[in-house]
Amino acid sequence: MDDQSIHTLLSLFTVNPLEASDLLGLLLIGILLFFSAAISGSEVAFFSLSPQDVEELQSGDKPRDTRVLTLLTRPKKLLATILIANNGINIGIVLLSTILVNSWLSFQSPLTGFIVQIVLVTFIILLIGEVIPKVYASSNALKLSRIMSKSVEILLNIFSPLSSILINSTDFIERKLGNKRNNNVSVDELEQALELTYQSGHSNQEEQKILKGIVKFGNTEASQIMTARMDVLAVDTTTDYKDLYQLILESGYSRIPVYEESFDNVCGVLYIKDLLEHLDDENPNWQALLRAPYYVPENKKIVDLMSEFQARKIHLAIVVDEYGGSSGIVTLEDIIEEIVGEISDEFDDPDIAYTKIDEKNYVFEGKTLLVDLYKILNIDSEMFEAIRGDSGTIAGFLLEQMGRIPQKNERYSFDKYTFTVEAADTRKVKRVKITLK
Ligand code: ATP
Repeated sequence: MDDQSIHTLLSLFTVNPLEASDLLGLLLIGILLFFSAAISGSEVAFFSLSPQDVEELQSGDKPRDTRVLTLLTRPKKLLATILIANNGINIGIVLLSTILVNSWLSFQSPLTGFIVQIVLVTFIILLIGEVIPKVYASSNALKLSRIMSKSVEILLNIFSPLSSILINSTDFIERKLGNKRNNNVSVDELEQALELTYQSGHSNQEEQKILKGIVKFGNTEASQIMTARMDVLAVDTTTDYKDLYQLILESGYSRIPVYEESFDNVCGVLYIKDLLEHLDDENPNWQALLRAPYYVPENKKIVDLMSEFQARKIHLAIVVDEYGGSSGIVTLEDIIEEIVGEISDEFDDPDIAYTKIDEKNYVFEGKTLLVDLYKILNIDSEMFEAIRGDSGTIAGFLLEQMGRIPQKNERYSFDKYTFTVEAADTRKVKRVKITLK
């Protein structure tokens, strides 16, 4: 600052001699600033306690540990108390400093005095009363919340009526706004939130997968995860016991749908464990052991289906289409896999059948479920879901898009994926190569 500016600045006010009352005022402002800093710091301290800090408090036997925990049981009350006290103190500082500045300095114009006071007082309150204590508190949360627990408890009791009014009015506003806000949280937003927790290192890849599975769970339908009818091992009621026995041994499935004439007329489910007590019989009447099948529509939400499986104590449902024909089966394992990922039990094929030729080329069986495809190629499912219609497999997807059964070497491109049919017959697409552009 040059001489000219200093001179202009000094000409804006004159300094009066300090009196004893001014000194007292200064002392009071100092004390209030200290209280403001302590209260602001405790706001950060109480609300940034980590789960480990809380554990330490729970295992501690000192009264102040219990006090901190008790205060934390009513977070709204605690926050309201801290805010009321902090604002009260800051208002006190502003009033006192106005009186002090006016008696100590005489300004040429009232506007200059007003501006100087605002800038100076705001700066001091922010720096000493807010920023420094909050920075300190964020790295000494446990220590500071213990130290401040008694004072905050006293303030909590003093300001109780005032804080109750504050909480009730914010609760009222929250109720009015809160419901609308909750309805607007979409699955996408939840997914983005998960992405953030991953990026900030709060969850690992495995947890991410499970959390994403849970988020998508509510929107997934039975047809998306079912085993399609072509791949279901089901038998006719007229099947000879010896053939049935052989099929059971070869497949390793624990439950087998049983139909009359065609899979569209499933009349029961044979539980292999029901057969066990008849193992010694030469030709048991296995048809008498059938349990009633449970039918669900293709668009059944799997979250509801899981509750029904639990309530009915069953593991398998027959998925039927809108015309009453059977589209496939869905089991409890299929549902759980949507959350935890692929489960391989003793008899399962180790993996979904697909071959990775290189980074950009994959070959899949036509019956591969779209949900599995999304996982393997790390595809953003939304685009596919928007156009997949009723299809649940890669073959079904191509059928839906092309409006007919595509033949060998036919191609279909969508977004950055090109599907090339590698094997097909007149009835179905058997193998598809997917190329990433
Ligand atoms: P469990 O594990 O209770 O012994 P499981 O191994 O026979 O039964 P699940 O674990 O319920 O069968 O399902 C595993 C996978 O096998 C699922 O994808 C399911 O759709 C499929 N599955 C189950 N039963 C059959 C069947 N009869 N035919 C074809 N696929 C089946």
